[in-house]
Amino acid sequence: MNKSSKQSEQACPVCAFPDLEIFFEMLNVPVYCNLLCPEQQAARNCPRGDIKLAFCPQCGFITNVAFDPARLEYSQDYENSLHCSPRFQDYAQSLATRLLERHNLYDKDIIEIGCGKGDFLLLLCELGNNRGVGFDPSYVPQTDPSQAKQQVKFIQDFYSQRYANYQGELVCCRHTLEHIQNPKDLLKPLRQAIGDRLNTAVFFEVPNALHTFRHLAIWDIIYEHCCYFTPLSLAHTFSFCGFRIGELSEEFDGQFIGLEALPDQGEADSIDRQRSEVEQLASDVNTFASNFKHKVETWSSELKQIEDKGQRAVVWGAGSKGVTFLNVLNIQAPIEYVVDINPRKQGMYVAGTGQQIVSPQFLENYQPDVVLVMNPIYQSEIQQLTQSLGLNTEFMCV
Ligand SMILES: [Zn+2]
Repeated sequence: MNKSSKQSEQACPVCAFPDLEIFFEMLNVPVYCNLLCPEQQAARNCPRGDIKLAFCPQCGFITNVAFDPARLEYSQDYENSLHCSPRFQDYAQSLATRLLERHNLYDKDIIEIGCGKGDFLLLLCELGNNRGVGFDPSYVPQTDPSQAKQQVKFIQDFYSQRYANYQGELVCCRHTLEHIQNPKDLLKPLRQAIGDRLNTAVFFEVPNALHTFRHLAIWDIIYEHCCYFTPLSLAHTFSFCGFRIGELSEEFDGQFIGLEALPDQGEADSIDRQRSEVEQLASDVNTFASNFKHKVETWSSELKQIEDKGQRAVVWGAGSKGVTFLNVLNIQAPIEYVVDINPRKQGMYVAGTGQQIVSPQFLENYQPDVVLVMNPIYQSEIQQLTQSLGLNTEFMCV
C-alpha cells in the first residue's frame, strides 16, 4: 500500500475524461471476499489481484484500473447475503415497503438484477402480491415452498439484452453495479430493454464511496468492487445512460446510496457540473492514502496490545470488511476465528488469512476477551447475542 500519483492511461468509463489518476494501491489481495472456501490451505492460496484506484476529476467516478473481470466468477459458492441479520432485515423491510408505496406496486411485475439468493425480491412480491423475475448467476435453488415463490421466477444468469422480453413496473438492482467494470455495460442495455415504457421505475443501491473515502470506512475496499460511486457520480452515470434521476438518498447510516430513476427520452451528453462536490471529493481522495496508512497502523498497535495482554480476540463478520481487515493487517495466528451468523459461511475459511468461520454459539466454549466488530451498525445486535450466550467481552468497532 503506498500513495502514488500517476496517470492510469485509461479513460473514465462514465464520462470519457482521459487519463484517470491513480491515488491508491493495494496489491495482491484475495479476489473474492465472499467465496465459500471449505479448506484452510486452499483459502490461504486463494487467487489474488491488484487494486489500483483511480479518480475522475470531471465526474467523480472512482474505479480500480487494475481490475480484471476474468479473475472473477460468480458461482453458487459465492455467498454475500446479509439477510441473516435482524438489523439488515429491518432495513430491507422498510426499503421494500417504501418502494411498493411510492410506485404503487401491488399485483405488478418486478425485475431484480443481481438478486443473490432472492430474499429482497421475495419480500417485494410477498408484501405487494407482486410477480417477480430475478437474475443472478450465484442463485441457489431453494426448497422452501412459500406462497410467494409460486409467483417468482429465478434465472441463474447475468441480466443481459437477451432477457429484454422480461419487463416490469419496477427494475431493482442492489449491490451489483459496483461489480461491473463499466457500469454502462449494464445500464445501456437495460435502458434499451425498457424502450418507450417510460413509467418503468428503476431503483439501484450501491455502497457509498463517501463513506469509504471521506469517512474512512477503509475495509470496504475489495477486489470485487471495481467501481466506487458517490451520490453525484452515480447520478452522472445514470444521466449518461438515458435515465432521469428522481430520489437520491444515503441509506443504512450513510453506508449505501439509493437511487430512483425513470427512463428519459434522450441521453445526457455532458455533465451538469457540480464542481464544488467533485473538488471536495478530489481532496478526500488526495489525503486518502495517508489516512489509510494511519488507520492501519493504529489497528496494528491495538492488536499488538491485545496480544501482549494475552487476550483472546475474535473478528465478528466474515463479509468483505472482515476479510479485508484480516488481510490488510495480515493477521493469522493472533486471531484464530471469525464469527458469522450466516450458517452457509460457518465451517468455511477466510480467503487469504485462513481463519475458520464459526457460529456465535462456538464462543460459549471459546470465551473471547475481545470481539472486533466489523460494522458498527450491527454492534447492538451482536452485544445482545453475546449477552444471551452469557459472554462478558469487550467490544471494539473497526
Ligand atoms: Zn468521469
